[in-house]
Amino acid sequence: MPIPQYQKPVKFQIEAPRALHPIIKGTLTTLFRSVEFDSGRRISIISHDLAQGIFTAVKLEGSDYVWKYLDQEINSLCYNRNDREKRVKERIRLGITRVICLEYQIPFSPWGILVGVRPTKLVHRLIDRSFSLEQIKHILSDVYHVSPARQKLLIDVVLKQRDFFLSDVNNPISIYVGIPFCPTRCDYCSFAAYPLKTHGHLLPQFLQALKKELISLGKMLQELEVKVQSVYIGGGTPTTIRGEDLALLLMILNKYFSANECQEYTIEAGRPETITADILRMFKDNGVQRICINPQTMNDHTLRLIGRAHTAHHIREAFALTRKAGIPIINSDLILGLPGEDVNDFEYSLVELAKLRPDNITIHSLALKRASIFGQTPSELDIQQHQGKKMALLAKNYMEELGFEPYYLYRQRYTLGDLENIGYGRRGTESIYNIQMMEERQTIIGIGGGAMTKLVNNDLSLVRQANPKCPATYSNQIEQIIAAKKYQIRQHLSV
Ligand code: SF4
Repeated sequence: MPIPQYQKPVKFQIEAPRALHPIIKGTLTTLFRSVEFDSGRRISIISHDLAQGIFTAVKLEGSDYVWKYLDQEINSLCYNRNDREKRVKERIRLGITRVICLEYQIPFSPWGILVGVRPTKLVHRLIDRSFSLEQIKHILSDVYHVSPARQKLLIDVVLKQRDFFLSDVNNPISIYVGIPFCPTRCDYCSFAAYPLKTHGHLLPQFLQALKKELISLGKMLQELEVKVQSVYIGGGTPTTIRGEDLALLLMILNKYFSANECQEYTIEAGRPETITADILRMFKDNGVQRICINPQTMNDHTLRLIGRAHTAHHIREAFALTRKAGIPIINSDLILGLPGEDVNDFEYSLVELAKLRPDNITIHSLALKRASIFGQTPSELDIQQHQGKKMALLAKNYMEELGFEPYYLYRQRYTLGDLENIGYGRRGTESIYNIQMMEERQTIIGIGGGAMTKLVNNDLSLVRQANPKCPATYSNQIEQIIAAKKYQIRQHLSV
């Protein structure tokens, strides 16, 4: 869903069999920020599963346009009963989306009716079922109405990712460590990120709890002889915490998770003002191979406007220090569509960042969630919604020129132009963790504040367990968290 234009609730009455109400309501909810049902304009849906195919019709009261479609392709032998049931819903979604976009002049998404954070999963599942690339393209285009550019992107990313999938989803695993503190809070941020100034008093107790969880789970994984493929320390901004505390955490990770021997070891240091030569030396000594330094923009004016406490100069300095320290891979994030920025401003950021020669660049599209400061008053911001597509295309072409390839992607709600976030990288520098985390084909144990544990079953179904986001709750409940998680992991890994 794009950054919403309709702030007031939009009201509809549904005229359709009860069983279809959830899919109808779900579709309308993805199109507006706020929807109410049981009063307002009548939306009528007819859906029949016939021998000739699936017939669907959608009509909105007061509009002359009626969407009608008979889907005969679903009769093909490659589809099963579940596919047919799913297709009924997909056709309803498409019909409603077409009718509503036309009536309310909402731009049709480049992703068509494909919703969800991980659009790549659909393509992976079809490949798993031996659908050919031609069939997949047809489904993306005919069923989901995904634009040709997004179809190509999806297929390119998925084909690249499949080389990273392992036959055993539970050995090796990956480890995520969450440190939810930041120097200050960025105005667009909707993550669990607690500024040191207001929440610094929670840090000592949080670190004690984190050490406890790391040691306890580390010992158990050693005992179960589970290997670790990648370690990712994220947040927040982990480098917000003091050097000695960070050093102790890295020492524990090396001792119990063999982090310095695993295939990939990443630390987010998104805010360049937190990076020092000493911290980088300590990272290098502990086997860290990847670091994330995130400008978001290289324009100082915008950095001030979005609440970042650094300048482009800090970014350049952080790059120089990281190179000097000998940490091989640097990932950098940029956001397209930041308030006050047009295509030229974004191009400036691309050019300036490229001069620093990062190995990976993740291009985010501005997303304004309610949990962010900007999300409270999106209409007051100078956001160039109409330039989003141009910026995304510029980024894609620029990445191609640099020799970078897209290797992971995900979507969020309330995003500029309903665009996506794409991780680009030079071949051989792709982040294994980002791929495994996004595609959910490897068990990931989350440790620390807000960390999510995902235990993957052989049929790729998941068991999730989330740690509390609030550092105080996390610290206070640490004994119960560890006990519950150990029990769940043991059960899962001993099946
Ligand atoms: S640095 Fe990242 S996690 Fe921290 S406040 Fe800014 S966007 Fe949020």
